[in-house]
Amino acid sequence: MTTHDGTCPPEPDTLSVGHPKTAAAGFTAVVKSMAHVWGEAGFFRGTRALMLLNQSSGYDCPSCAWPDPDDVRSRTEFCENGAKAIAWEADTRKIGREFFAQWSVADLAQQTDYWHGQQGRLVEPLVLRPGGTHYEPIAWDAAFTLMAGELNALASPDEALFYTSGRASNEAAFLYQLFVRQFGTNNLPDCSNMCHESSGSALGPTVGIGKGTVKLDDFEKAQLILVIGQNPGTNHPRMLTALQKAKRAGAKIVAVNPLPEAGLLAFRNPQEVGGMLGFGTPLTDTYLRVRVGGDAALLQGLMKAVFALDVEKPGTAIDRAFVAEYTEGFHDLRAATEAVPWDFVVEQSGVSREQIEDVAKQMAASERIIACWAMGVTQTPNAVGTIRDLVNLMLLRGAIGKPGAGLCPVRGHSNVQGDRTMGIYEKPSAQFLDALGKEFAFDPPRLPGHDTVDGIRAMRDGTAKVFVALGGNFLSATPDTAATAAALRNCRLTAHVSIKLNRSHLVPGRTALILPCLGRTETDRQAGGVQFVTTENSMGVVQKSQGKLTPASPHLLSEPAIVARMAAATLGKRSTIDWLNLVADYDRIRERIERVIPGFTNYNQRVRRPGGFYLPNGPRDRRFTTPNGRANFTVNPAAANRLEPGQLVMMTIRTHDQFNTTVYGLDDRYRGISQGRRVVLLNADDVRERGLKAGDAVDLVSHFRGETRTAPRFVVIEYDIPRGSAATYFPEANVLVPLDSVAAVSNTPTSKYVVITLQRAAT
Ligand code: SF4
Repeated sequence: MTTHDGTCPPEPDTLSVGHPKTAAAGFTAVVKSMAHVWGEAGFFRGTRALMLLNQSSGYDCPSCAWPDPDDVRSRTEFCENGAKAIAWEADTRKIGREFFAQWSVADLAQQTDYWHGQQGRLVEPLVLRPGGTHYEPIAWDAAFTLMAGELNALASPDEALFYTSGRASNEAAFLYQLFVRQFGTNNLPDCSNMCHESSGSALGPTVGIGKGTVKLDDFEKAQLILVIGQNPGTNHPRMLTALQKAKRAGAKIVAVNPLPEAGLLAFRNPQEVGGMLGFGTPLTDTYLRVRVGGDAALLQGLMKAVFALDVEKPGTAIDRAFVAEYTEGFHDLRAATEAVPWDFVVEQSGVSREQIEDVAKQMAASERIIACWAMGVTQTPNAVGTIRDLVNLMLLRGAIGKPGAGLCPVRGHSNVQGDRTMGIYEKPSAQFLDALGKEFAFDPPRLPGHDTVDGIRAMRDGTAKVFVALGGNFLSATPDTAATAAALRNCRLTAHVSIKLNRSHLVPGRTALILPCLGRTETDRQAGGVQFVTTENSMGVVQKSQGKLTPASPHLLSEPAIVARMAAATLGKRSTIDWLNLVADYDRIRERIERVIPGFTNYNQRVRRPGGFYLPNGPRDRRFTTPNGRANFTVNPAAANRLEPGQLVMMTIRTHDQFNTTVYGLDDRYRGISQGRRVVLLNADDVRERGLKAGDAVDLVSHFRGETRTAPRFVVIEYDIPRGSAATYFPEANVLVPLDSVAAVSNTPTSKYVVITLQRAAT
């Protein structure tokens, strides 16, 4: 069978480039939402799907993890992205055995990611047999028997990897990690390894919990909101409503981003007449156009300026009472920060000293500050140190653990935080394993497992031979596409639990399975009746989610049912658990979660209340649950980013028509780019300096430790981006992100810091 390198082929040459927008949402967002929903799901199914989205009696949005209001929810509690996610899932088109008989794996690989998503829902389990060219149907029992055979034939349980995407529900995730640990390994890589792992690594030792500390209503109480390395207009659109409310209540917003993103400039609220008529609420008051990779230096500059203000007027810029009562390490931080030269800060960040001092003054004048951040910060080599410096800054102001103030790492995928709470983690705590082992009468494995990057290395090196994915599109989500594709192809078995066809299915192991599951919008009926699942949002609220649409096929299984049957087939009498009994009624799963994981007391009862319940969060109440019981200042030297002549620092970004790896369309409306994804955004001076012009085709070459990687034929777009910086779309540019280029401590791929050069493409 012909294999391919795992990259998405280019779309037809229909690119057009216009002007970037200066405000997000509004009437166009509504029109686009309805076009997707009615176009893909039909009028009645689509409208019903939307009316249930983010409602207490409906389902949690399968897209991002932004929270819903605790109290009153409107009938339209969703955004354009949520609508597109629902349209994609509630799609009435289907691909069955005829489709796969017609299309070989090699031919499918020649189609784009967008095309794959547009073919429709998977309707039955499929297998690609050794040496086969086409997927063919397989019965569920036969699929589980095949998996069990491959898993049980391994020399060690550590030769299997069990990946989880952040859409899996709490119930599916808990069963999955339980199965994996009863099987005998902690090899539980997840998508969090590639996004907010850096946040968890930074927050645990400094404040005591790897999660944010704010609630949604804190935004209305804040005086100052920092939004760093985040593009909420595209990736968490309803955050704009929270920012709008904050602005109306008098807050100032400081945005830190290399690009002038529409969603940070102004918001046309589609739930208001003015917003629909095109009147926007200006959002950002101070926009710091930092260089790509310059956040660490910027934060050190902000701390320097805060310390300097406090010298000028002692006790004004630093909350000394808070520092004395709750923190450790202040003097070391002060000495280290004051030693950082301003020249370094300005050169590395690309932001002037005056601008930095101005923001420091705004911080010093604000009692209640919220700091939000996302992938722009977490996917850099010094991500953990950068986030720790953000914590330092907030601790200096005493801005954690009081109303209107705190830390807000904004999570990407809907239940990525909940999955980690449920034990999807390659380095579980002894406390968690003790509780799990006690509840289920077994001895869980204690050795740390592989995270995502180490898992790819293990498949590449042949020490991992079976790859199972609970959701997601692993190949397109991960760095170093060609290396990841080769690693997956090196496996004896690859098995993906999926809703639709994606590129990961097209880089199979020797045998490959596609296990189609119910979407979150669909009715989940088990032996014990109709079920609901639960999720945890970005602010630690656990809530109910119940699908009500007719499933796309009677042959689909729910994710918990797939996991339970996989476990029963693989473990047989070795298991202490009656898996089929457990999955017959999800209340039974939640009862077991309650007995293992702190904070879930009366789970079944409390989660049935509209809005669900908050998990405990010590730092929210100024209980810093670190080993020393204090909030810890840390010293995080920022290394200089040094480039050779001609080099640029590239970051990958998403278009407005995609969510993570899912491509809903070919436009990036807010940036004025249409019908083309293979583009590179460059400063006009950088374009001219290289003898290029807008519209030229270039090959992008990344450089890392003497190695080069090439992504051919990207179209140059002159864009308002700092000199020396470049931006390209994910996943097309993932091929340039070296597997070994990871953030210190968190091992997160540095997709926001890739050193590249440009070469004119061959004509
Ligand atoms: S903000 Fe996020 S969770 Fe809310 S509707 Fe939009 S995509 Fe879904």
